[in-house]
Amino acid sequence: MIKIDNRLKRISKRDKKFSNWAKTFECTPELLFEPENEDDIIKIVELAKQSNKNVRATGAGHSPSDLACTEGFMINMDNFNKIIEIDLENKTVTVEAGIRIYKLNEELWKNGLALNNLGSISEQSIAGAISTATHGSGINFGNISSQVIKLTLLTASKGVINCSMDENNDIFKASLCSMGALGIILKVTIQCELAFKLESKQFPMKLNDILNNLDSIIYSAEYVRFWCFPHTENCFVWKADRTTKDSTPQKYNYFKDYIISFKLYQFLLYIARYFPSLIPLLNTKMFDYNFSQPKQLIDYSYKQFNIDCLIPHYTTEWAIPLEKTKEALEKLHEWINNDENNVFVHFPIEVRFLDKDDIWLNPAYNRKVCYIGVVMYRPYNKPVPYKKYWAAFEKIMRSYDGRPHWAKVHTMTTNELEKTYPKFKEFIKLQKSLDPNGIFLNSYLKRHLFNQIDIKAKL
Ligand SMILES: Cc1cc2nc3c(=O)[nH]c(=O)nc-3n(C[C@H](O)[C@H](O)[C@H](O)COP(=O)(O)OP(=O)(O)OC[C@H]3O[C@@H](n4cnc5c(N)ncnc54)[C@H](O)[C@@H]3O)c2cc1C
Repeated sequence: MIKIDNRLKRISKRDKKFSNWAKTFECTPELLFEPENEDDIIKIVELAKQSNKNVRATGAGHSPSDLACTEGFMINMDNFNKIIEIDLENKTVTVEAGIRIYKLNEELWKNGLALNNLGSISEQSIAGAISTATHGSGINFGNISSQVIKLTLLTASKGVINCSMDENNDIFKASLCSMGALGIILKVTIQCELAFKLESKQFPMKLNDILNNLDSIIYSAEYVRFWCFPHTENCFVWKADRTTKDSTPQKYNYFKDYIISFKLYQFLLYIARYFPSLIPLLNTKMFDYNFSQPKQLIDYSYKQFNIDCLIPHYTTEWAIPLEKTKEALEKLHEWINNDENNVFVHFPIEVRFLDKDDIWLNPAYNRKVCYIGVVMYRPYNKPVPYKKYWAAFEKIMRSYDGRPHWAKVHTMTTNELEKTYPKFKEFIKLQKSLDPNGIFLNSYLKRHLFNQIDIKAKL
């Protein structure tokens, strides 16, 4: 058993089980640490080096894969969560890595600032979101990592490194989507903008009408995304632009939003585990009940970006070159509707768009992309079949040179990743130089980045 000093003893727990938000992956780290300051994090990494233990940081544990898992040391960053500085003149904020995005949103808003784009939820820690290229939607906007202008990384071989566009630029571009493989992110400085409200217009549309007018829809507002309802032709489009008009926030309706859309829906999904052929009807009814009428709302930006994701689910998501969107969605639609495949899949298929950038392992590296995400709900955390759907989905995404979302389960091999990411080899070289003994690597990273574990072993 590893001996640790009193200070680390006070902030650690032995053999405490970790499971991700959707309860689809779990592990039992030998030691779980909950540090509040940088010195303790440095000590933990030193201890890991000396005792040759694997060490992983976790944020909110929201990754729908085993990405955060380890049987070695786990550092839960939740208590390392302070706002270090808000610079109103330059509209930047510097934070400790464990801060949750919802807390950051609120603090920024109080200071008249906001992030320019967000994902569907804000439960994540900022470092967790950055590490996996977490994104929202908006064809002229990047992901959350692209808003970062400075980052402090604790590495195994070179200690604490500051990086930015002007300092250690290679490390900066690599660490902005690095899945914990390069070290522990300690601090980040983010370029914000003045707080803004969004006016969203949400309306139903048929899939064919969207696909035949795709470009005009994608560019019709600053932020555009849509959801398809599998086994039907129905879709629901959400688009939003900045506004200075007065807010007209959505009122929470306990009966509609909680009892029907969560409680009853979860129950019906549970029934459908035994009668899967009910799923198309369920998708149709949910569309009719919740998404068949247009809506228009004005609210704070971060409230508009986020949605409720109440029911735990399996999910996977890939980014394909923007110009392949129509073909890929048509193929997926065709596969789902082909009776011979005998599959029944839940709504939604989520479709989002993102600008390109030069973050080495960002799925939007060097190309504008369409992200397509699929889900299968796990009512009351009970399993449902999803592997056939995933396999067909991945086959279609691969055929369009797709790149998977790093946080989500996928079967891309090291060879395939090397082919699709021009900077992949450089990333691996950098990883080896910053972490020569591989203390930051876990099964996920060994499987996908280092070809050391059979891909099928986990899936
Ligand atoms: C309901 C739900 C909705 C989601 N919506 C979206 C969405 O809209 N868009 C999208 O792109 N993704 C989405 N995701 C995925 C989610 O954004 C990512 O999984 C994100 O990484 C979760 O952040 P976390 O803080 O929970 O990180 P974790 O899951 O705890 O960790 C993720 C990775 O980050 C690493 N990490 C965490 N902290 C540090 C650190 N300080 N230093 C180095 N590495 C670190 C971990 O080691 C791990 O590799 C969603 C997930 C769920 C469950």
